[in-house]
Amino acid sequence: MSDDTNPFESLQSQIEDAANYLDIGDDVIERLKHPERVLETNLTIERDDGDLERFKAFRSQFNGDRGPYKGGIRYHPQVSRDEVKALSGWMTYKTAIVDIPLGGGKGGIVIDPDDYSESELERLTRSFARELRPMIGEDRDVPAPDVNTGQREMNWIKDTYETLENTTEPGVITGKAIDSGGSAGRVEATGRSTVLAAREAFDYLDKDLEGATVAVQGYGNAGWIAAKLIDEMGATVVAASDSTGGIYNPDGFDPVAAKDHKIETGSVVGYEESEEELTNEDVLTLDVDLLIPAALENAVDADLAADVEADVISEAANGPLTPAADEVLEGKDVFVIPDILANAGGVTVSYFEWVQNRQRFSWSEERVNEELETIIVDAFNALVETYEEHDLENPRTAAYVVAIQRVADAFEEAGSWP
Ligand code: GLU
Repeated sequence: MSDDTNPFESLQSQIEDAANYLDIGDDVIERLKHPERVLETNLTIERDDGDLERFKAFRSQFNGDRGPYKGGIRYHPQVSRDEVKALSGWMTYKTAIVDIPLGGGKGGIVIDPDDYSESELERLTRSFARELRPMIGEDRDVPAPDVNTGQREMNWIKDTYETLENTTEPGVITGKAIDSGGSAGRVEATGRSTVLAAREAFDYLDKDLEGATVAVQGYGNAGWIAAKLIDEMGATVVAASDSTGGIYNPDGFDPVAAKDHKIETGSVVGYEESEEELTNEDVLTLDVDLLIPAALENAVDADLAADVEADVISEAANGPLTPAADEVLEGKDVFVIPDILANAGGVTVSYFEWVQNRQRFSWSEERVNEELETIIVDAFNALVETYEEHDLENPRTAAYVVAIQRVADAFEEAGSWP
């Protein structure tokens, strides 16, 4: 994090900004600014050397008005109660802007997984799954991967849940390996929506994506897939970074070979096609047509935003711009495609996975990608319609206006329970 902005406060200020354009009572808005419940738990597992270690873990169920809570579980030293609350709120408005029948949730464990063996991580994940068991289920709360978790962890959670419940219920979790009930196209989905949204934005702004220059901050699953797909669309990826530093070549480089280099050496730094080494911050402030922040929250604060030179930003990460950065970028006419739309491909294909699990019928990758494209294009069009209708300066506010209205409608239509 480049500054200590509290992500939960960022979420609340984003909701307040949008509320100014909505005819919804303050009492309802107040409800939509807070999670319904948060589990905080301590997991104690045995290390390989026989010692015990305790880990703090959270699951926030933010809102279930539109369907089961939905959202990932991250493993990171920076996980905190407020971070998980914020991320669960962003999930609520993400599922709403793409209009899939799910609510919002998020979980996390405070850990640096690099410091632990696979068997330690398995014990820890299964221990978390046991704690989560009473609150999850395919109709209740459906976790998924997030930062530093993937198919392996999802398979362990599914197995723990199904063993304890003495059932088969693959839809209790998404992001599984294909042989364990996962969906084709799920791994690529976050990067895919990031570039589909960018393509729509370029089209809307009458800008040419062919030959456009792109910088990608964060080269994990979302970042490198976005780089690969935007390159296939004819854009030129000129810079990429990860936690150890960045690479730059003004003529572009092969994003897949850069990823292979990262797999081999642990970092993009040192990749042979790079002409210059950059810092993470340099990558964020390059003069490019499109910037894709694909790491963690608060990557761009107000100070850094003053130096941002990109024309369009497509947020693959959750919460990469602070609200103060948003204000600066608004003044500079940077078109920011908000995270809740740009990275919604992950949860959208999770939704397809859940549907396939319930139908016990698998879709082809082609069908997954086609249906994803329709959903992202429709969501972008809904955003633009509201953006123009209210003459908004910030596409993020437009996305929240659409999303909050949908959640509030579901809440009000349900009536009150005495
Ligand atoms: N962790 C992803 C996100 O932040 C995906 C969540 C999901 O698939 O439920 O959107």
